[in-house]
Amino acid sequence: MFVFDAHIHTLASGHHTTDRVIDVVKAAKSRGILAVGITEHAHGMLNGCTESGFRSLMLSPRDRLGVKVLFGAEANVMAEDGTIDLSPAVYDKLDYVITSLHKECFRPRGEEINTKALIFAMEKKNCDVVGHPADKTFPLNLPALVKAAKQNGVIIELNEASVRENGYRGDNRPQTRTLIRLCKQFNVPVVLGSDSHGGAFVGDFTTLTAMLKEEDFPKTLVLNDCIKRFLAALPRNKG
Ligand SMILES: [Zn+2]
Ligand SMILES: [Zn+2]
Repeated sequence: MFVFDAHIHTLASGHHTTDRVIDVVKAAKSRGILAVGITEHAHGMLNGCTESGFRSLMLSPRDRLGVKVLFGAEANVMAEDGTIDLSPAVYDKLDYVITSLHKECFRPRGEEINTKALIFAMEKKNCDVVGHPADKTFPLNLPALVKAAKQNGVIIELNEASVRENGYRGDNRPQTRTLIRLCKQFNVPVVLGSDSHGGAFVGDFTTLTAMLKEEDFPKTLVLNDCIKRFLAALPRNKG
């Protein structure tokens, strides 16, 4: 049973939503989601959240209408060496950081360099969760990525917006299926994220749930059933 959505944006990330944290919480509650991870874009994107924005979010209530609220970020890889657009001070204060490749911040440079950039981010402790690694905009060496995630204790995100029918990222189901198989093979934990901008898709994991079932993916490797389990699995919390 999935009760946690790890990847959600509010109006602070733009993208045509005016929904605030409370609107996301209300949407979550109406769908039986008990915990939400607010992960605004960091400032490398024009519509990103500033560092002072992240600091303010972290002072916001953690319990809204009975729904637990985690405050993370979706950081951008900015260079081939795995540098990201969050200062260490803010990175450390957040509950967790999803680190992603986005065209606004990192021009796709072919499979080898794209993959290395994410692996460097893991090794530099600039990444708790790899964001949407099945995005075909950035071809990746998925076996190398999953092995590096295992070595660095990093979690892999399975992103519903990448597989949803008519999703804004196109159809990334073949890459997502490969990723699911590799995580099963190498025993790497995953977390599901809707990547909902606003409340519209919060907690909707329809396509991913079907794919995980088809692949007979072990339930123990999915960290959406309990936020304590998710938090304990983060590289930052593993000492
Ligand atoms: Zn993203
Ligand atoms: Zn996102």
